[in-house]
Amino acid sequence: MKGANPIRPPVKSDGQTLDVQSIFPTLQGEGPYAGHPAVFIRLGGCNLACHFCDTEFESFKPMALAAMLDKVDELGGRARLVVITGGEPLRQNIIPLCDALLAQGLTVQIETNGTLFQPLPPDVKIICSPKNTGAGYFPIREDLLPRLQGLKFILSARHPLYQHIGQVGQEKYHTPVYVQPMDEQDPVLNAENMAYAARIAQTEGHILSLQTHKILGIE
Ligand code: SF4
Repeated sequence: MKGANPIRPPVKSDGQTLDVQSIFPTLQGEGPYAGHPAVFIRLGGCNLACHFCDTEFESFKPMALAAMLDKVDELGGRARLVVITGGEPLRQNIIPLCDALLAQGLTVQIETNGTLFQPLPPDVKIICSPKNTGAGYFPIREDLLPRLQGLKFILSARHPLYQHIGQVGQEKYHTPVYVQPMDEQDPVLNAENMAYAARIAQTEGHILSLQTHKILGIE
């Protein structure tokens, strides 16, 4: 996308149909479940447009909840983890989807930019990757902060907005902080970013998160 996506506001619905970009089996590449086999549900649209966004989420189609659950069942194999991502997954009412997946005994993880909120079931694991406005990080929703399993900061060796960890509320809730090199779609810059993120992790006591799915060349 690289910031070229239309900014899409939250939509109200009963959650029985969602705009879905894709559903696919893979290994979770990032954060606390890195390495876990998972089914990813990538939802359409985002309420932000980050310049470095590396994800296609604008060719989505509406999909009924029952059909989504069938697809997760069909693709899941032995995976016990379902990751709901985007775009921005909290743009849409995903509560019925989360309820249905949890009822099957699956672990459900959400990846959000932290600027929207929904009262998700308490068992849902939420990872937030804060994004920079140019004048600092977008504030993370106060109602979301105590729910976070981790904050994942993207780091770039050269991009001034992404050279440091922002203070977005992690100290108040002792939220684990992950640092992840920005994927700038350039091998030289990416190698710099990886070394930079590794150094920040070591010197500042954060957790290094590599996009292992990209290292493996899988989706
Ligand atoms: S918040 Fe995430 S999905 Fe949305 S534009 Fe930024 S990087 Fe892409």
